[in-house]
Amino acid sequence: MAWAPDPAYVLHCVAPDGSPVRLHYRPHRSELLDDEGAPLFADVEPQAYDEVERVSPQSPGWKSREAGTLKIQLGMRCNYACSYCNQASSVGDAAVTRTADAAAFLATLDTWLQGAPGRIEFWGGEPLLYFAKLKVLVPQLRARFPDAHFSMISNGSLLDEEILEFIERWDLHVAISHDGPGQSLRGPDPLDAPRSGHWIRALVRRRGGARRRVMVNVVLTAANADIAQTAQWLRDRFGHPDLALETEGAVGAYDETALAGPARWTPSDYARLHESIAEGFVSGEALRYASIRQKARDFIGSLRSARPASALGQKCSMDDPGHLAVDLQGNVMTCQTTGARGQHKLGHVGQMEDVRLDTATHWSGRECCWHCPVVQLCQGGCMFLQDASFAQSCENEYRYNQAILAGILRQVTGLRLQRITGDIRRPRAVIPIVSS
Ligand code: SF4
Ligand code: SF4
Repeated sequence: MAWAPDPAYVLHCVAPDGSPVRLHYRPHRSELLDDEGAPLFADVEPQAYDEVERVSPQSPGWKSREAGTLKIQLGMRCNYACSYCNQASSVGDAAVTRTADAAAFLATLDTWLQGAPGRIEFWGGEPLLYFAKLKVLVPQLRARFPDAHFSMISNGSLLDEEILEFIERWDLHVAISHDGPGQSLRGPDPLDAPRSGHWIRALVRRRGGARRRVMVNVVLTAANADIAQTAQWLRDRFGHPDLALETEGAVGAYDETALAGPARWTPSDYARLHESIAEGFVSGEALRYASIRQKARDFIGSLRSARPASALGQKCSMDDPGHLAVDLQGNVMTCQTTGARGQHKLGHVGQMEDVRLDTATHWSGRECCWHCPVVQLCQGGCMFLQDASFAQSCENEYRYNQAILAGILRQVTGLRLQRITGDIRRPRAVIPIVSS
């Protein structure tokens, strides 16, 4: 597909005095004009951008030995069973690795990795189930890459004094997965258990606040759709007034279980999400979530620099050759949530030139994303989901990103976004929204 057509959308808004206002938005050229044709942001300075590679099964991507972001899959076991887990259907595909593989991984690292990654992420399953592997990997990687940002996402339930000291010593940034009032979709609340509750709060006290070494990572579902309420709930229960928050956005539908329940929303759930995010830009609550802040900054930057859609990579960046997901046997996968024994094995680090990312579709290969008014915010959702799973995930992304667009407009101009018209093409196989 060439970089055309260039769809135009009308953003129908209401001014604070109740009068209707129309804005005109072209996402493929990041142009947002008022009804007189003047840019909403007066200081537009178009910048030159490189086109991204548009990966697809027919035009596979590749991986670089100079990985700026290295994602190490420790194993996929987890002591939780979140109802919408994006890994649940991949667990059987994971290569089973042992602690001894961690030493072998380090011993061969120099043969395939060039340069110093800026980020190294340690992934489970639940990464703290693999603490023995972390104890082998982290000190040596820290010695080799003293400036790299080390991170992991954990449910926090296995934290104890030894692990907290380890995290502090090697400066691991930790995101605790917790859905606040929607936590029951994940399972038991580790804050309720005396031991894990104690150590999670100790982690937040010690490394949170101004140090910004720990944050709480929320997946938005119908059960916690009011982001301001969720933020307050988390601050109260974690016992920290300056709790750093993050969100992965609206829940995806990675398997039949999620598709049948947790990934589905009613119209009133979507309305709560929309209003809480849009109003949260005015109150500041939405901007407490790092990824919402980042999306808003990025979107305003896209308008100011007239960023073409051709420069837009995939949301998770795993289409980027410099983002590499590997397991401890050196298998290269589509991403850290997939296993190397199934279709998502792309190759091996020992033959990096043969690695082919042929499991993914860049957003430009999907008709719905091409004709989407929030593509600059969403960047195409998950690049390997298909059919009903993609459609439902897309619907949730669409509502979430439209709410962020509404929030940006509300904060910057005072306008309330009511609806968007134009050539909007939604994915086929969207499950009808259940009535509230
Ligand atoms: S909301 Fe859906 S159609 Fe729009 S960019 Fe995201 S995945 Fe594509
Ligand atoms: S391809 Fe990207 S969005 Fe999809 S599961 Fe992997 S990291 Fe997440």
